[in-house]
Amino acid sequence: MNLRGTTQVFGILGDPVAHSLSPVMQNEALRQAGIDGVYVPFRVRREDLQAALAGLRALGIKGVNVTIPHKEAVCALLDEVDPEARLIGAVNTIVHRDGRLTGHNTDGVGLLRALAEDLGFHPGRRRILILGAGGAARAALVALCRAGAEWVGVANRNPARAETLVGEIRPNFPGTTFASHGMEGEELNSSLGQADLVVNATSIGLKGEEFPFFPWAALSREAVIYDMVYARGGTPLVRTAGAKGFRAADGLGMLVAQGEAAFALWTGQPPPSGVMRRRILADWERQEVPG
Ligand code: NDP
Repeated sequence: MNLRGTTQVFGILGDPVAHSLSPVMQNEALRQAGIDGVYVPFRVRREDLQAALAGLRALGIKGVNVTIPHKEAVCALLDEVDPEARLIGAVNTIVHRDGRLTGHNTDGVGLLRALAEDLGFHPGRRRILILGAGGAARAALVALCRAGAEWVGVANRNPARAETLVGEIRPNFPGTTFASHGMEGEELNSSLGQADLVVNATSIGLKGEEFPFFPWAALSREAVIYDMVYARGGTPLVRTAGAKGFRAADGLGMLVAQGEAAFALWTGQPPPSGVMRRRILADWERQEVPG
């Protein structure tokens, strides 16, 4: 790496960030695109978020990703939040231009691209069940409705949170019908039975654990599964789905696609095709980044 006085700085704000794969894939993309830039992980505690944003301005940092736990809180601290991120209620990418900080959310477009590329799935007029009602589920719900889903169900361990999420988003998408419920019982079985796609937007699987509940027999045989969680060698949910004869993909494609969209927002150009994914897979192969 050849840092100079002209080098542009990008990064990620979060806590923790040590596990993040973004520095590896973004630096590879900057290098291969021939951009004089560097992408740095910044561990920022909750109470320091405002100071960190002032730091971005003061230091002329060109753009950052935002991750747990700041995605929602950061919205109130920016000069502008684009309409999609505002509807989602979370920002994962900040662009710093002419002294102004603008928030975007590339998780939704990342999910749509991953669904198309990894599963050949397009949400228009399809029926989709989202498991989870946190920040990732919010981005998924908005993106899937925007892409023309006919029906979207949200199932969450805490059913009230699912109901609140659906209540907030429903008025914006009169062409979509909605359901919300808990993560067990007849309601879950019925939603699984009618879904063309099931998206795991919970954090189950992050530590390599199996899904504690998943009534596979209730799932339509044609359904496909997208697990937002990713792991070296695939997640338990994806492996089990495959063993039961379902098509499934883990969240690596979404991670890469949201990162590629952020790169394009910062630099005005898409990164070289496939570079980010290949770099992560190569590092996993050599066991150089966390799985
Ligand atoms: P949040 O903390 O906002 O939400 C977590 C969700 O998981 C909640 O719905 C929570 O339910 C549910 N949950 C957690 N533990 C359990 C459990 N044991 N049983 C049932 N439900 C559980 O996290 P995010 O929405 O930000 O992220 C969710 C997942 O998506 C993470 O694993 C993250 O890594 C992944 N992700 C992947 C991305 C990618 O690019 N591939 C991008 C963004 C996120 P409750 O409300 O009841 O607590």
